[in-house]
Amino acid sequence: MSECLFCRIAAKEIPSSMVYEDEKIFAFNDINPQAPVHILVIPKEHIPSITDVKDLSVVGELYNVINKLAEAKGVKATGFRVIVNHGKDSGQAVPHLHFHLLGGRHLHWPPG
Ligand code: AMP
Ligand code: ZN
Repeated sequence: MSECLFCRIAAKEIPSSMVYEDEKIFAFNDINPQAPVHILVIPKEHIPSITDVKDLSVVGELYNVINKLAEAKGVKATGFRVIVNHGKDSGQAVPHLHFHLLGGRHLHWPPG
């Protein structure tokens, strides 16, 4: 059994509020949402961070799902933000690549 939290969520060993799943990608609501829409979109494959991506096609798959979800959640028209944290200064807390999809309110810029 994996010790990675997001691997375990993708394998449904740990429950989550899932919003999308296909062969390669899993998406679920963030447990501590920072906006009305706050979804984490992850590869099922364990990739620790954006700097560890070897097969760039996975990034395209993630963006394809992000666009589908933005439309499904109604934020494509109003606007949304996609964030990937890497490393200590960004506050990355979970070492499994995840794209934050945030929307449903005005998002301040620049982020803190
Ligand atoms: P990051 O700081 O980019 O690593 O983001 C990690 C995100 O994972 C945070 O926004 C957390 O709220 C979220 N998170 C942590 N544990 C869970 C969980 N069990 N289910 C859903 N989201 C989680
Ligand atoms: Zn993992």
